[in-house]
Amino acid sequence: MKWGLIGASTIASEQMIGAIRAQSGHEVVTVLSSDSARGRDYAVKHGISASTTILDDVLRGSDIDAVYISTTNDKHLPQALAAIGAGKHVLCEKPLAMTVEDAAIMVRAAEGAKVVLATNHHLRNAGSHLAIRDLIRSGRLGKILSIRIFHAVMLPEHLRGWRIDNPLAGGGVIPDIVVHDADTVRFYLDEDPSEVVAMEFSGSMGQGVEDSAMSVWTTPSGVMVQTHESFTHPFAASGIEVHGTKGSVIARNVMTQQPVGDILLRTASGEEQVAFSTHNLYQRSVAKFAEAVAGTGQASATGVDGVKSLAVAEAVKTAASTGQRTTVDYGEF
Ligand code: NDP
Repeated sequence: MKWGLIGASTIASEQMIGAIRAQSGHEVVTVLSSDSARGRDYAVKHGISASTTILDDVLRGSDIDAVYISTTNDKHLPQALAAIGAGKHVLCEKPLAMTVEDAAIMVRAAEGAKVVLATNHHLRNAGSHLAIRDLIRSGRLGKILSIRIFHAVMLPEHLRGWRIDNPLAGGGVIPDIVVHDADTVRFYLDEDPSEVVAMEFSGSMGQGVEDSAMSVWTTPSGVMVQTHESFTHPFAASGIEVHGTKGSVIARNVMTQQPVGDILLRTASGEEQVAFSTHNLYQRSVAKFAEAVAGTGQASATGVDGVKSLAVAEAVKTAASTGQRTTVDYGEF
């Protein structure tokens, strides 16, 4: 599969170029940047043979099958629609778009063009989260009562930029991290959060956008979810807990890009460590996307999954801004 990168981004350089090249027969042929010098430097640094500032060069001037979109969030919609219009399969970064309506337009366009649109929610590709989901599905935890998510981290200096000062580019911890937590909860429970209360805060880092949020969600089956997302916590470490009538899972350091962490299962029989696969999260995301393109499987997170995680984040934003308990609006989905 030949890939075009739309966006000379950090996540492509740190994870996705390697993840694409790890697949047999996959190749990155070109990269789009809005700045010709940056695009050229990026291509040279990563051994990509071409770079361009013109989207049409990627979509029609090169012989690619798929694009990976990792520009700032405001650009995902127009770039995805152009790629879909050119008949290319699209693996798009989260959040899929700036609004649920825009994300739904992307899904409908891909359906109409019969191309794959997937969302790069990496966490559901982690061996740790797959293992926790298996425990939930096996009934070891009984009826699920609640989930607590600890996703307050210190945003590394090189990732600050638009994330901490530009709402028009999609900055803020809610579009950045709440979408991942929403996707993980949906992945675990196979149901969609229904109502949200939330507060947000802009402390030491955010300039015009929130750098911290806490929220509580409910689901149709009565699970209560408590979440904490932040860019400003150097020592908190991440984690997730799932509590059921027959057991609890306490997982630490698992809300991360790396295949790391610890999972403890506590039941009436005592405590045990849960083993899990330590495969690369991003390689699995690309492999599942390729299966969807080949018609032999499904993307790990589909376009609809991207719409739904964004809908929860939008509800958190609305609840935090208004102080009102907010119903999650999944639009047509
Ligand atoms: P970056 O800031 O690294 O890249 C975003 C855009 O910023 C690039 O497309 C590039 O524009 C521009 N840019 C990059 N470096 C510079 C620079 N030195 N000077 C000026 N502009 C620059 O963002 P991320 O890689 O962190 O995030 C990109 C997308 O990926 C976002 O949608 C984000 O939410 C998502 N993401 C997903 C992760 C996941 O695990 N699923 C993890 C991290 C991010 P141009 O292309 O025009 O050159």
